[in-house]
Amino acid sequence: MARAAVLGRLSWQVATVSAVRRESATARTLVLDVPGWTGHLAGQHVDIRLTAEDGYSAQRSYSISSASEIASEDEATSPIELTVDRLPDGEVSTYLTDVLEVGDQIELRGPLGGWFVWHPDDPRPVLLVGGGSGVVPLAAMLRTRATRDATAPFRLVYSMRSPIEEMYADDRALSAAGVSVHRVYTRKIPPGYPRPPERIIADDLSDPDFGPDRAPQVFVCGPNGFVEAAANLLITLGHSADDIKTERFGPTGGPP
Ligand SMILES: Cc1cc2nc3c(=O)[nH]c(=O)nc-3n(C[C@H](O)[C@H](O)[C@H](O)COP(=O)(O)OP(=O)(O)OC[C@H]3O[C@@H](n4cnc5c(N)ncnc54)[C@H](O)[C@@H]3O)c2cc1C
Repeated sequence: MARAAVLGRLSWQVATVSAVRRESATARTLVLDVPGWTGHLAGQHVDIRLTAEDGYSAQRSYSISSASEIASEDEATSPIELTVDRLPDGEVSTYLTDVLEVGDQIELRGPLGGWFVWHPDDPRPVLLVGGGSGVVPLAAMLRTRATRDATAPFRLVYSMRSPIEEMYADDRALSAAGVSVHRVYTRKIPPGYPRPPERIIADDLSDPDFGPDRAPQVFVCGPNGFVEAAANLLITLGHSADDIKTERFGPTGGPP
């Protein structure tokens, strides 16, 4: 890869918020215009840096939730989208979800990460396992599948505490042909939901179409404890560690 391209990804750029969208009771999507953005792969993230007037600055990573897009030579790409879940005492997430407004600017660098990515020309089945905001890069993969007319079968196992935390509930990429979604609620279920509220178990991850014999690519993302638990269950079910890619979001191991 050209040195200039790598340096470009690592330098800070100024992005402007062009729209915001409520995504769940606690999360919101930021639509960002980034001049000269040359595109990203599904699953990549950016770093965001906020700097206060006194010079104090804080930096966090956020996955890109919009579909992968690579710019052609004479055209820039569309704005990128990030979805941020608000942590009650979070330093950066509360600012991004409660304070930032359309027209505001933030510093950003990326796209970053070349391991936790899905390529739309890969025909293998894909099993996505997301806990809480861990669903964000998985949504980018589902959206990329939809925009590129890819046909690889996808299954999303999405764990959240309660229905009000669900993101992307109406997104058509999640109900497209060849995509199945299984929701796991750890604390509160919608009326009549057949599965009791509990943390993810082996049954949630067992689907014959995405079993070890089909050798699906598996992407697991969420808080540390969730990723640990899900990856262990997948290994117990017989999936090869080589097929499982993980991305860990936070320091704590609580639900989902
Ligand atoms: C590669 C990568 C991609 C990420 N993508 C996203 C994304 O798309 N959307 C998103 O909302 N977040 C994402 N995160 C998490 C994000 O970077 C921040 O960690 C999160 O927003 C909390 O930052 P904060 O400043 O609000 O909280 P802090 O002030 O840093 O922490 C507040 C409290 O919450 C705990 N905590 C911090 N992070 C988490 C967490 N993720 N889960 C549970 N508890 C936590 C801390 O231990 C502390 O007690 C990603 C992280 C990584 C590493």
